[in-house]
Amino acid sequence: MKYTFGPVSSKRLGQSLGVDLLPPKSCSWNCVYCQLGKTRKFVTDRQEFFPREEVLDEIRQAIAANSALDWITFVGSGETMLYKGIGWLIGEVKKLTITPVAVITNGSLFYLPEVREELLAADAVLPSLNAGSEALHTQIDRPAPGLTFRRHVDGLVAFRREYKGRLWIEVMLLGGINDSDEALHELASVIKEINPDMVHLVLPTRPAPEQEVRLPSEERIEQAIAILSTVATVIHPVKGTMDLRSAPDMLEAVTAIVSRHPVQQLELQKAIADCFPGEKDKVSAVMQDMLATGRFKLVDHDGEPYWVLKGIF
Ligand code: SF4
Repeated sequence: MKYTFGPVSSKRLGQSLGVDLLPPKSCSWNCVYCQLGKTRKFVTDRQEFFPREEVLDEIRQAIAANSALDWITFVGSGETMLYKGIGWLIGEVKKLTITPVAVITNGSLFYLPEVREELLAADAVLPSLNAGSEALHTQIDRPAPGLTFRRHVDGLVAFRREYKGRLWIEVMLLGGINDSDEALHELASVIKEINPDMVHLVLPTRPAPEQEVRLPSEERIEQAIAILSTVATVIHPVKGTMDLRSAPDMLEAVTAIVSRHPVQQLELQKAIADCFPGEKDKVSAVMQDMLATGRFKLVDHDGEPYWVLKGIF
């Protein structure tokens, strides 16, 4: 499978089949917390990176192989809306299945009417908003030239006016960066302007390219929920558990997921063990096979080993 991965499990989207439309790493931002590593070269021009029929064919096969999907989620190796033709794909997927379609995006291209138009048929759209000021937007998201904070917010406001589906803003809360009362009040005022259906508060739990990225304290998380709740419904999603039991090929399933984001070794071991009850050797065999591909390595993050794609950190 070249474009689909999972299903992966999360509290917000249940069992979700991932669809990745981009070559790694293609993004208009270079976030300090990006789990894909640094953006070496900005991409801001939209393209049909891979033939849309080929992508659709693979989605069709993945749907047929996974009967219990909660969502089909466009997400992957960079900024999803850089793929020109995603609107066509969303429309075709909705002809294939009643499973709802979500799109995870940084939202930086929403200032373009054609980008907003391509998203109208999605059931849920999850754009990022990590800052309530130009200074913090520049510090955290490090956007390509021209992608200003105001342009980002205006794009989100315009999209909200046009879009009838569920708009869930994703806020990455970073300890010591955007978790002060001042930063949170600025963020709340922008969220009020956008008027999303919900805010999802997420945390930098995976390895990141920059040293300054750290988890906020429990007290700051509580304060963020309290301040942002004055303008929107806030949920603080807890991670789901990885479920590989429907994977036809274990190594392929695992490498497809680790290619898209770092995975905690413990989580991976448990997911593999759940597929082979009583077969203790299977877990270490899959780990050995992963190492043998030469594409992955283990790194330490907050005292926990994580599998990552080589060369991204
Ligand atoms: S928008 Fe997403 S993919 Fe792009 S740099 Fe930020 S976290 Fe990474």
